[in-house]
Amino acid sequence: MAKRIVILGAGESGAGAAVLAKKQGFDTFVSDMSMIKSKYKDMLNERGIAWEEGKHTEELILNADEVIKSPGIPNDAPMILKLKAQGTPIISEIEFAGRYTNAKMICITGSNGKTTTTSLIYHIFKKAGLNVGLAGNIGQSLAFQVAEYNYDYYVIELSSFQLDNMYKFHANIAVLMNITPDHLDRYDHKMQNYVDAKFRIIQNQTDEDAFIFWNDDPIIQRELHKYGIHGHYYPFAEQKEEGAAAYVEKDKVCFTKPIAFNMEQEELALTGTHNLFNSMAAGISANLAGIRKECIREALGDFKGVEHRLEKVCRVKGVDYINDSKATNVNSCWYALQSMKTKTVLILGGKDKGNDYNEIADLVKEKCVGLIYMGLHNEKLHEFFDPFGLPTADVQSMKDAVDAAYRMAKKGESVLLSPCCASFDLFKSYEDRGEQFKDCVRAL
Ligand code: ADP
Repeated sequence: MAKRIVILGAGESGAGAAVLAKKQGFDTFVSDMSMIKSKYKDMLNERGIAWEEGKHTEELILNADEVIKSPGIPNDAPMILKLKAQGTPIISEIEFAGRYTNAKMICITGSNGKTTTTSLIYHIFKKAGLNVGLAGNIGQSLAFQVAEYNYDYYVIELSSFQLDNMYKFHANIAVLMNITPDHLDRYDHKMQNYVDAKFRIIQNQTDEDAFIFWNDDPIIQRELHKYGIHGHYYPFAEQKEEGAAAYVEKDKVCFTKPIAFNMEQEELALTGTHNLFNSMAAGISANLAGIRKECIREALGDFKGVEHRLEKVCRVKGVDYINDSKATNVNSCWYALQSMKTKTVLILGGKDKGNDYNEIADLVKEKCVGLIYMGLHNEKLHEFFDPFGLPTADVQSMKDAVDAAYRMAKKGESVLLSPCCASFDLFKSYEDRGEQFKDCVRAL
């Protein structure tokens, strides 16, 4: 009898895993506690895959030989605990898909910069003419692509949740951008558990593989020696350092291995210190894949950026409007402000996750000419920033925020939406917040 695979959660990753499982001849069943989007229902129905929604029927799940869990389902969900108690193996969609392809895997993780770096690597590989797929948290699921296409390379963004249920999967190139506290609620509020999850990106690497990481990150440095690292080290750094595979020196970004070449910082499409890191990590990955340096240079120079991350919207009456709606924590707003070359009107606020605004206080004093507080509860913003003496406005909608910014900003200045907060008080998601910003700006 065919082995039974049950997939919990039918979003992009679950539906993709089901398609691959069916194709591999497994007895496949999909169960989702919520309603399944019609796009995924069609995908399952077209292939004759059994599914249920709005419930988890125990008899249909506990008889599984193996379960594929969507990253959104917590490890302590009741059904997961039952499966664990009876010893059923639980894996991630990426782990499952990795079994059915010999493609080279370039995997990116970190607390910040994953999507940008993953998209940048994909852009360089595409431009170099490689047969490459983009997967993980962005684009189509890895499992779906493994089932339907035949790529030679996959560039995969991996969150710590995806890494949690990976055991045998093997990254040929592993990229670790940085580690700062995040999602601790899912890790028993223990930072070490989160750190260990991130470091799973290098498990199963061999001495044929590469490990790219930010050398100046104190947590990465502290943890490096703890793990048996088999891949070759390719660290990147902000300053010239012995052994660095890429570093910054004056106005240049220098790549040292395998092929050495330099490029002017000015040539990089993405600006700001954080994007220097992202560009270095992407450049090293491409260098390791044997892509010509001319091509890497060109691609790092013409990348269009990712939506909602320091995205230039347009210039209105000499004022640049920039959408950084994805800045949902104070640290990413710090990087955004730091990259601003002109005086800035900052729009911030939303659902506060226990923010400490001290981190951006100096940059606000140095760069901001006005602050717009946009949220249902702006008291904390008032309390912290009002003493700076800048012009401020209190708003509860994006239209009012953009109108206030329009009145405040003078020619040659910029308006930056970089909220430091989640969006759920006034918006559906950070994407919705960014879209509304762009619509309002374009309507000025
Ligand atoms: P992730 O996918 O890890 O959430 P993104 O690439 O979507 O990261 O970027 C999210 C935000 O984090 C951006 O708006 C930017 O302000 C900030 N950011 C991007 N890259 C980095 C980095 N290397 N280090 C710190 N912050 C970054």
